[in-house]
Amino acid sequence: MKKTLIIGAGGVASVAAHKCCQNYEVFADIMIASRTKSKCDGIKAAIEKRMGKNLKTAISTASVNADNVAELVNLINSYKPDIVMNLALPYQDLTIMEACLQTGVPYLDTANYEPLDTAKFEYKWQWAFDDRYKQAGNTAILGSGFDPGVTSVWTAYAQKHHFSEIHYIDILDCNGGDHGYPFATNFSPEINIREVAANGRYYENGKWIETKPMEIKRERNFKHVGQKDMYLMYHEELESMAKHIPHLKRARFFMTFGQSYLTHLKCLENVGMTSIEPIKFNGVDIVPIQFLAKVLPDPASLGPRTKGKTHIGVLFQGLGKDGKPKKYYIYNVCDHEECYKEVGSQAISYTTGVPAMIGAMMNLKGIWNKPGVWNMEQLDPDAFMEGLNKWGLPWVEDFEPELVD
Ligand code: NDP
Repeated sequence: MKKTLIIGAGGVASVAAHKCCQNYEVFADIMIASRTKSKCDGIKAAIEKRMGKNLKTAISTASVNADNVAELVNLINSYKPDIVMNLALPYQDLTIMEACLQTGVPYLDTANYEPLDTAKFEYKWQWAFDDRYKQAGNTAILGSGFDPGVTSVWTAYAQKHHFSEIHYIDILDCNGGDHGYPFATNFSPEINIREVAANGRYYENGKWIETKPMEIKRERNFKHVGQKDMYLMYHEELESMAKHIPHLKRARFFMTFGQSYLTHLKCLENVGMTSIEPIKFNGVDIVPIQFLAKVLPDPASLGPRTKGKTHIGVLFQGLGKDGKPKKYYIYNVCDHEECYKEVGSQAISYTTGVPAMIGAMMNLKGIWNKPGVWNMEQLDPDAFMEGLNKWGLPWVEDFEPELVD
């Protein structure tokens, strides 16, 4: 009987917990632990209500401060999980990785580490654990969300089944959903705004090319969503793909944004609300972006209001298995309202929580449990690809896709 410790109780953790309970043959027993235990209890109550007599997974909850390794080690030693899913924030990645190493329990997350005081996410801190995980015979799976996560598995799949050489990768992330608020973020506001306000960056011919935020814009017609403006951004999987995909000449990431979102963001930036530098307010230190995150709608509350679809895909160009030039696009379309009906969350949390569950299942089933720290494009994709079709994120292939210039 496998036990899974889920750390975090936000939108993504809620979806992952629901999906684990749907997959009770693998997830017989889960514990949801976060800083605020009432949020964990809320997720447990929601699953019990939604699943009724069909709920077979045992669910317990706990309070933990995941910034504290000793607290984590105590919790892991008392619950004795077979895997820890880190669905808290990227700031907790290193402490949770350390606790997993000390207790010999596999680790999985959905976003790479970023220091609280420097808006710069990089894999170097997590990759630095590789030797110790290898020596301990333990496994860490990094980035098991949608992007990174599904995008990484699709890359491994394209490499395994379609290409002898992948030369160009364009990741296209389109959210055609509308929550009716003038400004809100679909996942953790602090992480989302830090990511979007940062300079753009892409990989070309062995170098990183930096752009101003939102400097490079393209238009694209996304199937099932429609015509959208998309902007080049830096995203963490570009770093690991540049390292792990041989023959790669260029890798870029584009995300769609509506004009209202961009105008609000610019205004918040201009008035200093997106700053991560602490300021004194009435004698108390506050960080503007953290204050902003508190006054914005909670992403977990957007579910009932959000209509429309997401469309996320990866466009590949290179040489096919026959050595001839080849292009290939693979994508998923996910409906916000359908997600809400199924698990009470909008599609952004859904498209992250489902792959988190599948990644954990891959480890618990012994398919992805080799010692070391792994990005998902390094792992065999086939069983994960089946899991996507089975657990709510079916994929579609297009062998004549429109390219992005
Ligand atoms: P939320 O902000 O909704 O939830 C974060 C949760 O983490 C909260 O329950 C919070 O608890 C908990 N938490 C924060 N600090 C601590 C701590 N020190 N100890 C214990 N728990 C803590 O975020 P989301 O659910 O939207 O996102 C979760 C993760 O998923 C993030 O890392 C995000 O970057 C990632 N993500 C990845 C995507 C992908 O495709 N790869 C896409 C979207 C998100 P409390 O409220 O009590 O502070």
